[in-house]
Amino acid sequence: MEKYKTSAGNWKQQIGWDEIDKWKYEEGLSYKAIRDRCIELCGSAPSKGSLSPHFNEVVKENLRQRQRVYRAENVNVILGKKLDQFWRHTPPIELPTITESVRAKERGATKALEFSISGRISRFCSKGEKVKRLYRDCNFTVQQLLDSWKGTQNYDEDSHNLECAICGGSLNIVNDLWHMDHIDPRGKNTLENCAATHRVCNQMKSDLSQEEFQELVAKINNFNQSKNIS
Ligand SMILES: [Zn+2]
Repeated sequence: MEKYKTSAGNWKQQIGWDEIDKWKYEEGLSYKAIRDRCIELCGSAPSKGSLSPHFNEVVKENLRQRQRVYRAENVNVILGKKLDQFWRHTPPIELPTITESVRAKERGATKALEFSISGRISRFCSKGEKVKRLYRDCNFTVQQLLDSWKGTQNYDEDSHNLECAICGGSLNIVNDLWHMDHIDPRGKNTLENCAATHRVCNQMKSDLSQEEFQELVAKINNFNQSKNIS
């Protein structure tokens, strides 16, 4: 028996494949979990039969993409093209220099980071709302968030390091596991209430306010110190 309605649904508009790709590749959700989350967010989900072919297509497209990048940037490929032109006596065409292609690659990394943070902002700004917000309907942009973190968390845009808002330790938003935390869990979904934390720090803090969390940490500390003394 088909449990979900799949035809007239608006998951494609409300959620879309890009977001579902992130659930699969960043969070590792199963097809069932993807469908459940779609249903929860907008009342409809992609059919079972369309998920597996879609992800096969994504894998193929990634391989094609990588091949294109390799062709565009590989020194041998660039030299090979130049040699081809020489032997064929054709006029030279514009080919990217190595530095240009390296810069393009860096732009790619920044683009990927932007993409991943925009998804986190959508989730952050959807807290307490029935339907997930699109990034363009959120209260702030990726650039505004990173600029704000430069001031509040010493974000460094070259290394992508910043200070975790809970423990103060170093956190790399490209390579480390991290969460976007509501500083005040009962507060608004605003830029001022948005902080980057280690995943484990945010999991410990759970939905406590900063004050409640500090009290709990102090209590745990005192308890363990008293055990050590006796
Ligand atoms: Zn931390």
